[in-house]
Amino acid sequence: MKLFISADIEGISGVATGQQLKTPSEYQRFRKLMTQDVNAAIEGAFNGGAKEVVVADGHGNMSNIFIEDLDSRATLVQGSNRVMCQLEGLDDSFAGILFVGHHGREGGSERAVISHTLAGICVNEMKINGKVVGETEMNAMVAGQFSVPTVFISGDDAYVAEVQETLPDVEAAIVKRGIDRFSAELLHPEKAHKLIREKVEAAVRRIDQFSPLKVEGPVTFEIEMKGPNQALMTTTIPTVTLVGPKTIRFTCDDMVTAYKHMWGCVIIAMTATNGVLGQVNA
Ligand SMILES: [Zn+2]
Repeated sequence: MKLFISADIEGISGVATGQQLKTPSEYQRFRKLMTQDVNAAIEGAFNGGAKEVVVADGHGNMSNIFIEDLDSRATLVQGSNRVMCQLEGLDDSFAGILFVGHHGREGGSERAVISHTLAGICVNEMKINGKVVGETEMNAMVAGQFSVPTVFISGDDAYVAEVQETLPDVEAAIVKRGIDRFSAELLHPEKAHKLIREKVEAAVRRIDQFSPLKVEGPVTFEIEMKGPNQALMTTTIPTVTLVGPKTIRFTCDDMVTAYKHMWGCVIIAMTATNGVLGQVNA
């Protein structure tokens, strides 16, 4: 049995504010804690019967986890030039996907810790076929096209509640209680690791009970950007239509193609934040 772990950092045990992640010395601590949370998930996966685990590092520059400290049974995808963004390496050979250290969506719960959708600098809201989604729901739909079910998530309690509206059956490790977007009551990492290990093992043992989240038919994305400059520049791609000053729309035949298209638009939007050729605009 082969499992895929998508790892982010905002929902890692010990993280409470965005400032912690931006302070260089603090960030190094959280890279270590991220590696430890992922290790707890890998251990739970093997305890539950996995034979192979692939981890995709999915935060910031996508190079956070310390490979030298990672459980040697897993392999690690790092680096940010990835057509499949947080899901690079995923295909139909996997029996399940796990989201470790993820977070609530932009504009969701007021208590979701460091909430955002993919790129806080440019994305205000993401809709797939009319449904507002966060990263986990969107990624779960992509995995669904490969017939891979989402079996486990970890993060704060508001994030878990948000995801369980779409995936009520998913196994979850709540490693912190959200107080505000930048405040949380944290479990000690030792307790968080035990919880992650046990919940992952429980999920993997009952993996046959999960169904993939499939989106049938054409997939329409509607993305509200934070600024009109970010939205307009994405219309350089001929499939993109501007449907409001800050809102774009496009349709693809399937979820995987649409996900890549979305990522292309977000890359353009991020680049357009201060002028695509690097000049700083007001
Ligand atoms: Zn992140």
